[in-house]
Amino acid sequence: MTRKPLPRRPAPFQDELLSNWIARLAEANYCSVPELCRYLGLAQERPPETQSDLAGVDIGGFCATIRLPPEELDSMLIQRRADFPIECITWSDFQNCPACARKQPGISLRHWRFAWSVRCEVCRSELVPLHGNSEGLAQLPSRLRHRAQEGAVRLRTVYRHGNVHASRRMDLTLQVAAVLAPELRLGALFSQNRIDRFKALAAINLGMTRPLLAAALTMKSDRVGETKLRIAFPHKRKLVDRLARLAESLPRQRSREGDGPKNQSRKYCAGTAHVPRQEYLQAARRAIDQLGENAERSDLLNCAAKFLESACQSHVDIP
Ligand SMILES: [Zn+2]
Repeated sequence: MTRKPLPRRPAPFQDELLSNWIARLAEANYCSVPELCRYLGLAQERPPETQSDLAGVDIGGFCATIRLPPEELDSMLIQRRADFPIECITWSDFQNCPACARKQPGISLRHWRFAWSVRCEVCRSELVPLHGNSEGLAQLPSRLRHRAQEGAVRLRTVYRHGNVHASRRMDLTLQVAAVLAPELRLGALFSQNRIDRFKALAAINLGMTRPLLAAALTMKSDRVGETKLRIAFPHKRKLVDRLARLAESLPRQRSREGDGPKNQSRKYCAGTAHVPRQEYLQAARRAIDQLGENAERSDLLNCAAKFLESACQSHVDIP
């Protein structure tokens, strides 16, 4: 059946979703979206978003009616990988670009749906959560922002190439992150809290670069983390043992402003001495004296950490 092309045809925007454009076509031609879908010969009354939504549709006739070159159709559709272990593309908008949305109210661009999109590809503005609290966005720590951006690029590359090994590793990273940090549970990649979303992307980056160290550092600051990991991954006993040993061997981190009461003694220690480098060197020398130059690095670090701790303690005790 041949249909007349639509009389009015607002041009699609760069990277606009087909579903969004069809809604605009309906409005321009004074009909409802379901009416237009029926006219276009679609099986359902909602506008298509994926290739499978167009199954059984005469693509030539469909494209002729909306006057769209068939080769441009794919770039307006979402292509989901069924075999990818992480959900990377949402089923509805979760973020947008305020600048583009102001220019064209109701616009929905394809890349806004991707977990790895942090900037608008049209105007380079930062994307913001649709329903999130926009306060505090400017205070996003720069290191977290940088790591999240690197994680986003990794996720996009792995998704596009369909890299099975890397995708499994990313999936495991997110599972471990969810055990150690409850805010990173399921769906954090699309969280309306941008800090959580950026943490999930940063975790992906760390999981691909320094997975053991990242997990061990978290365990170092949260001793319950080891128990949580043992419960969540009973079949990975040896790996958790290794992580626990690594966490134990790491020197204590300098405490930061805003630490909770559990870190009070450490804060006190850092505050009194303000981390004199000399103390670190002395502790390292004493550890080498005690264990010998050829001792295991982890044993040396462990020993030096104990010397440093007792040195700090004596500073605190002296009024
Ligand atoms: Zn934009």
